[in-house]
Amino acid sequence: MTKEQLIAKFKELYGADGEVRAYFAPGRVNLIGEHTDYNGGHVFPCALTLGTYGIVRNREDRKLRFYSANFEKLGVIETSLDELVPDEKANWTNYPKGVMWAFEKRGYKLPHGLDILIYGNIPNGSGLSSSASLEVLTGLILKDTFGFDGVSMIDIALIGQDSENNFNGCNCGIMDQFASAMGKKDHAIFLDTNTLNYEYAPVVLEDAKIVITNSKVKHSLVDSAYNDRRQECETALKELQEVMDIKTLGDLTEEEYEAYKDAIKDPIRQKRAKHAVYENQRAIRAVAALKDNDVELFGKLMNASHESLRYDYEVSCEEIDILVDLAQAMPGVLGSRITGGGFGGCTVSIVKNDAVDHFVDEIGKIYEEKVGHKAEFYVVDIGDGAKTL
Ligand code: ADP
Ligand code: MG
Repeated sequence: MTKEQLIAKFKELYGADGEVRAYFAPGRVNLIGEHTDYNGGHVFPCALTLGTYGIVRNREDRKLRFYSANFEKLGVIETSLDELVPDEKANWTNYPKGVMWAFEKRGYKLPHGLDILIYGNIPNGSGLSSSASLEVLTGLILKDTFGFDGVSMIDIALIGQDSENNFNGCNCGIMDQFASAMGKKDHAIFLDTNTLNYEYAPVVLEDAKIVITNSKVKHSLVDSAYNDRRQECETALKELQEVMDIKTLGDLTEEEYEAYKDAIKDPIRQKRAKHAVYENQRAIRAVAALKDNDVELFGKLMNASHESLRYDYEVSCEEIDILVDLAQAMPGVLGSRITGGGFGGCTVSIVKNDAVDHFVDEIGKIYEEKVGHKAEFYVVDIGDGAKTL
C-alpha cells in the first residue's frame, strides 16, 4: 500500500479532519553474528526496505485508537494513556503501548492521545523483526509528535528493547531495534552490543544479491529455547569468571576459550559458549573480509555460522537445514545461513545475480516436495533506518 492509500484508509476509519503525519521503520536481516547480542558480542545487521508504516493524528483527549491493516479483523482497538499496562486482549497494540509506557517511565509524559493506523509488509514472526520495527516506529512517532528532542535514535532503540523485554515479556537483545532505528541504505551496522559502539560498513556485493528465504515454519520451541540458551550462556560465563577476568563471552578469543573451556562443567553449556565466542570472532572477521572486498570469504564465514548454530547452539530445525543445505550446494551461492532467533523463520543467502532465478525456482521446488508447503523468497535491498515520510 502506498502512503496515499494508507492516508485514505486512515481518513475513512477515523474521519477526514485534521493534519496527519506518516512514518516508516524497517525490519532487518542479520548477516552474521547470531545469538551474540546478549552475549556481549558483535552483530552485523542491516535494515531492509520492507518495514512498518504508521499514519498518525493528534487527539485532544487521552484516548488512543489503534488500527492495523494487517489485523483488519480486530478493527479499531481503543485504550487510553491512563491504561498503559500489558493486556492480552489488547493483542498487537501491546507493542506500541509498551513503547509509550517506556517513554513515561523515563519521565517523558505523553500529553495527549493519538489515532494511529499501522501497516507492515514484513512477514510477522519470521525473524525479520516486525515487532522491533513496530516499536521503533512508535518511538519515532512519539519523539516527533511531542518534540522529545533529547531522545536520540539510539535511545529509541533502547526504549524499544525495554518495552519488548519488560512490557511484552520477550527477553531480546538490542540488535533488532538498533538496526531498525539506525539503519543506513546500502550499509550494514557492525555493532558491539557490549558498548553500543558501532560502525557502518558498505555492503558492496558487486555481482551478487541478498536473498532471504522464508521457511514459513515457526516451531513452538522458540521462546522457551531462547530463554534456555540465554541461561546456559549466563551459567557458562559465571563458570569461566571463576578462573578468568572477563565481563562477557564476547571478551574471549577462540584460543582463550579453548584454554579455559574446562571450567564449564557441562558439555552442552560448553557448546553454547563455544558458539557465542566463535560466532563473535566470525562476525569480526566477516566484516574485515567485506572491507577487503572478499565476498567469497564473507560467504564462507556465513556457512560456518550456520554450522555452529546447527550443531553447537542447536537453534536450527529440519526445514531450515533443508534450505541451507540446498543453497550451500548450489553454484553461484557464496554463503547461506539461518538468520534470526531460530527454530524456523528465514535463511539469508548471498547469491550471484545470474543465479538468483535458478535459486528461487530450484530451491522453491525441492523445498515444497520435501516439506509440503511453499517457501517464500525476497531479493532484498538495504534501506535506511526509521524516518518520517
Ligand atoms: P518478528 O519480530 O520476528 O516478526 P514477533 O513474534 O516478535 O516476530 O512479532 C510479531 C508480532 O508483532 C505480531 O504478532 C504483532 O503482534 C506485532 N506486529 C508486527 N507487525 C505488525 C503490524 N503491521 N500490525 C500489527 N502488529 C504487528
Ligand atoms: Mg520480534
